[in-house]
Amino acid sequence: MRYGFVIDHRRCIGCHACTVACKEENQVPLGAFRTWVKYVEKGAFPHTRRYFSVLRCNHCDNAPCVAICPTVALYRRPDGIVDFDGARCIGCKSCMQGCPYDALYIDPNTNTAAKCHYCAHRLEVGLEPACVIVCPERAIIAGDLDAPASPIARLVAREQVEMRKPEQGTRPKVFYVGADSSALTPSLQAPAPAYLWGQRSEGEVDLVRMAAAVQALEPAGDGALSRPVYDAPHAPRPWGWKVSAYLWTKSISAGALMMAALDRVMQLARGDALFDTAAAMVALIFLALTMGLLVWDLKRPDRFHFVLLKPQWRSWLVRGAFILLAYGVVAVLWLLLPAAHHRLLVVPALVLAAGAAGYSAFLFGQAEGRDFWQSPLLLPHLIVAALIGGAASLVLVGTLTGASDTAVLSMAGFLAVALILHGGLLFAELGVTHANTDVARAARLITRGAYRTRFWGVSVVVGVLLAFVAIVLVPGGMVIGALLALAGLWVYEDVWVRAGQSVPLS
Ligand code: SF4
Repeated sequence: MRYGFVIDHRRCIGCHACTVACKEENQVPLGAFRTWVKYVEKGAFPHTRRYFSVLRCNHCDNAPCVAICPTVALYRRPDGIVDFDGARCIGCKSCMQGCPYDALYIDPNTNTAAKCHYCAHRLEVGLEPACVIVCPERAIIAGDLDAPASPIARLVAREQVEMRKPEQGTRPKVFYVGADSSALTPSLQAPAPAYLWGQRSEGEVDLVRMAAAVQALEPAGDGALSRPVYDAPHAPRPWGWKVSAYLWTKSISAGALMMAALDRVMQLARGDALFDTAAAMVALIFLALTMGLLVWDLKRPDRFHFVLLKPQWRSWLVRGAFILLAYGVVAVLWLLLPAAHHRLLVVPALVLAAGAAGYSAFLFGQAEGRDFWQSPLLLPHLIVAALIGGAASLVLVGTLTGASDTAVLSMAGFLAVALILHGGLLFAELGVTHANTDVARAARLITRGAYRTRFWGVSVVVGVLLAFVAIVLVPGGMVIGALLALAGLWVYEDVWVRAGQSVPLS
């Protein structure tokens, strides 16, 4: 059994009855929507046409929101409905990043995620979803796609149907009949700062301006004249500065112990307290900050322990939490054990430091709604970011605590090499051909759009070029170089997190 919907665009009159019925039936709060009707216009006067798109959760058979949810708050029922359990939700907003269709919102009353659940409570007493029974044109058809004799299965077999973003591999179960592709594909729509009957929120308008500036750099395509004239409001960027800061503090934490373990392997400055104790202390302080930021960013921080006690093991949020805990244990052992025993910890320290630095590549990879974050270079880039964070922080700590010249110089050497690698990866990630339009637009936002000043000015010139020159060419410039490298890394992490969320999903 696989419940799905067909939306017949040939019949829809854009009356919003489905939206209102859904809000009433499910007590959806003001400003949030489980289903909504978007109006898109195409053409130039007098040859114009308005299309109505009924948008909602697609109850995907391969649902990324279920895979990324750390606490099984989102789950697929045996009948194919993707349902949610607000009592388990911690408000991490990762489902909003995983869903390529903008289907989820945070309920302001409960601070937990919610979305269309196919009116499962009605289905269980033999009723159809509220949107289906209220539609005056019978434009919404619900039913079992696996029952060949059901009206929905016959409609899908008989008509030419379309899905939203089939290339995402989510196997959506909302099928559209008679839809214009520009009405279903946001990348074919011009950015609209205002609608027919209303203004957009300030955050949305900011994003629209940014998107318009980079779209103006593109050659006009087939969809150039299609423009949204009505839509529901959407959360502009679910993840903000706390997530960027978490990446930065995690780079420093993972890199610090990684450097101490590498010192053991390479016999750089054996016996120096910088590697025997200070590195582990830096690792633990920044690990505590990392975990604090993660909890602070939750909409339900009171439930943070659900990640450990009610885990969904496919989620990299859960795997990452356990990696960070194990890494913390090794850092504590490094601090407590006499230096002579550190050789026993070298392999676990290196493996777990790499894991702590790199697991976010898989977490951001599970955020399938954000194509820009799907880069295969993200994992090596996060490891290089840890090298920068670890080496730069130990240059600073080593200088402040009077560590040996050999120890500080070895860290400065690592930092210089890591900066070269970082520069190369920046070029490879942003300067080459991109997988699709959304990735290209996000990259262009960084290199030529709203983030260009921060990217070129701080991340590249200050954080790579000046930092490298200070470390390598200026006598005594290591401290300045380390500070510049850390500043550049922070700004790049922030720009990268923001740009990935700046391309509209619906
Ligand atoms: Fe619904 Fe989005 Fe989850 Fe698919 S990924 S089931 S559309 S919330």
